[in-house]
Amino acid sequence: MTEVQAALADPVGTAAVPDTMRGAVLFGPDDIRVVERAVPLPGPGEVLVKVAMCGTCGTDLKIFGGHFPQTPPFGEFIPGHEWTGTVVALGDTVDEFRIGDKVCIEAHAGCGRCDNCLVGRYTACLNYANPAKGHRATGLTTNGGFAEYAVHNVKALYRMPESVSFEDAVLITTAGTGMYGLDVAGGFVAGENVVVFGPGPVGLMTVQLCKQMAARQVILIGTRPSRLELGRQLGADHVINAREVNPADAVLELTGGEGADLCVEASGGVDTPQQCVEATKRGGKMLFVAFYPDRVSLDLSAVVRKDISMYTSRGEGGNNVKRAVAMAAEGKLRGAELVTHRFGLDDIAEAFRVVRERDGDPMKVVLVP
Ligand SMILES: [Zn+2]
Ligand SMILES: [Zn+2]
Repeated sequence: MTEVQAALADPVGTAAVPDTMRGAVLFGPDDIRVVERAVPLPGPGEVLVKVAMCGTCGTDLKIFGGHFPQTPPFGEFIPGHEWTGTVVALGDTVDEFRIGDKVCIEAHAGCGRCDNCLVGRYTACLNYANPAKGHRATGLTTNGGFAEYAVHNVKALYRMPESVSFEDAVLITTAGTGMYGLDVAGGFVAGENVVVFGPGPVGLMTVQLCKQMAARQVILIGTRPSRLELGRQLGADHVINAREVNPADAVLELTGGEGADLCVEASGGVDTPQQCVEATKRGGKMLFVAFYPDRVSLDLSAVVRKDISMYTSRGEGGNNVKRAVAMAAEGKLRGAELVTHRFGLDDIAEAFRVVRERDGDPMKVVLVP
């Protein structure tokens, strides 16, 4: 009997965990191959999860290209940071979860001992990428979910409500990014006019969060009509195609000439930060949750003149995935509609070609091991 099998307390007859699994290993820039690997062992405070599906994301393209800092060495590294599945084995000291629990994840498990972790800012852990100090970022600094099995720390796991599907669960991790940003920017949006730039997965989950938290008008800005239409179905009060009209002018018109209380920049376009400056009202807020392909320029004097507060946040800190799970449990957060493409793990290269080339207008492409 292997160690994993020994660790598998199996009160309900869960199928035995095998010794080996299929995993997509990054061997070099743009060289990802599905190979056989040992099933990882959960350490203290960790569980082993049988992955049900793993979402793809723009960050994965940077990782595949070898352009992302602090990843494990080529030949060992299994990417994938938006996954969900079922707990199949428990490491030492774990009593928070049971075998058979369906779980969704936060990508980041902070060290839990640095100043930032102590105040909930574990996506900015001062021991980032230092596993010896307890930090793990699945699919980023440690092996992730493009595999049949993955280990994960209980600090970054949430039990899925019965009513939530695995598709929804993949997007709950994404919603955590929007929720953390809103948290950092002051939390309450009730009664406020909120603009979301960028109808990608983060933007569309943020639209839903703002609507459910009683924002007055939620205005979604983008360039692809299909994405804007999905945003409307998910609750945006107004959608604006930035190819057709000046987005800042449109926002001013919808807000009686004042501008928005809060602009959320989730597009990653280098021109949108300046559009945020123009669309935000005096004394309003701008929140940046995207990564940019290049330096951006904006009229900082106008930001000061208008007394605008700027916020940034990285990923899904501050326990905000827990809040997103709670909203999904109430049926107030929908993720499955964003899943447009499903591929088997063996077709990972084809899946990422679709993501890269936007073939078939993909929103969220998931891999099923
Ligand atoms: Zn991502
Ligand atoms: Zn830390």
